[in-house]
Amino acid sequence: MITTNLDNLASEIAEVANEFSKEIDLTLNAAFNGDKMSVEVVFADKTYNYSYDLKYENELERKRYVKRYVKLSAYKTLCDHYGEKMPWGALTGIRPTKLAYQQGENWRDFFINDMLVSADKTELVGKILDAQKPYMVKAGGVNDLFVSIPFCPTRCAYCSFLSCEIGREKHVNEYIAALINEIEAAKRLGLNYRSIYVGGGTPVSIETPLLKTVLDALSDIKTQEFTVEAGRPDCITEEKLKLLKDHGVTRVCVNPQTFSDKTLSVIGRKHSVKDVIEKYELTKSFGFTVNMDLIAGLPEETFEDFKYSIDKAIELYPENVTVHTLCLKKGSKLKESVERLSAGEVDKMVDYAHAALFSAGYVPYYLYRQKYMAGNLENTGYERNDTACIYNIDIMEEIGSIVACGANGVSKRVFGDENRIERLAAPKDILTYLNKINLIISDKNELFA
Ligand code: SF4
Repeated sequence: MITTNLDNLASEIAEVANEFSKEIDLTLNAAFNGDKMSVEVVFADKTYNYSYDLKYENELERKRYVKRYVKLSAYKTLCDHYGEKMPWGALTGIRPTKLAYQQGENWRDFFINDMLVSADKTELVGKILDAQKPYMVKAGGVNDLFVSIPFCPTRCAYCSFLSCEIGREKHVNEYIAALINEIEAAKRLGLNYRSIYVGGGTPVSIETPLLKTVLDALSDIKTQEFTVEAGRPDCITEEKLKLLKDHGVTRVCVNPQTFSDKTLSVIGRKHSVKDVIEKYELTKSFGFTVNMDLIAGLPEETFEDFKYSIDKAIELYPENVTVHTLCLKKGSKLKESVERLSAGEVDKMVDYAHAALFSAGYVPYYLYRQKYMAGNLENTGYERNDTACIYNIDIMEEIGSIVACGANGVSKRVFGDENRIERLAAPKDILTYLNKINLIISDKNELFA
């Protein structure tokens, strides 16, 4: 349990504590004297004291420093007690790279000295900032269109997304009709879209005629990049790939997650490694830029299993490989049944992926972190030969305003000059989404007016 006199920061302290994957009973109290801040942490019958100088120009900045020092105090205490350091130090947010941009040219100093981030992770962020240079624009300077098709053939055991088994969902046709209404409304906003991303779920799990209606609605939008997250090989067919090609899709994700048949069965996938390879080759034969997702820390996988998957992906040589670390949230079937792998084991997997991909000519170009990630690590996207996915950069660095269509879509308008973002989340539940579609469209019109 976390006890603190800074009630609004209790969840921030809990996030730091969560990184240590233990039940933690900690009391943290802060006191202020002018621009001095002192923090007392009581943990495991020991008292720790810290003091900081608060340098700020306005109230917002002051709050930011207070939050940072509170997290740092909790982190230092837990490191001292457990004799363990975390790869990302006291950083707990989703977007370390965005934080680096905000810190300006001294960001490395801030990462290593202020937030105690490891040298390896700081180096990783440095490589990503370099790779992103050709794509960076002023925040709010571009727009991207996200389209959500939240259906899958079956539900993977680790899944915590909104995703319905398509065979059990009675409202697929109505959903697609409402989605097309939203897409048409998004077109009427009069924005230029730098990218379109059709995600899921598994967008190609819907029947071909329905997929065609969605693609028909999207195909007259002029854009630099058009991605469809085909996802699972059990839904990829030649007919659907041809449809994507004919409608101007440029990028397709074919996601193996692992190249072990045994693990595919453990995580509830109804296809084999052979299917993945066949569908990957079929997808490549249409000339798409392909991304492959792999996951480190899947149940029952050893370092050798994961190494094999990375080596196999490199042998297939897709343009992009995204290395995720397993993240078990509430809502996933595996949550209760799987022990978290030791941080060291997953760390070794992620380090291997980085080294192997780098020496095969891939560079990391975006990353993000989530709560409950195995080893408290990160998800990193790699690309080769300048094939970075623009949508991933725009959304992760929050430089693009996102017009999201579909259930669970989160639209974001980035007001770069004012350094603020307004968000609008669509309902997660399909029936609620269908009932509220007119309101969703009018709220979005207002957001982007
Ligand atoms: S394919 Fe992705 S969205 Fe669909 S069930 Fe599996 S993890 Fe969830």
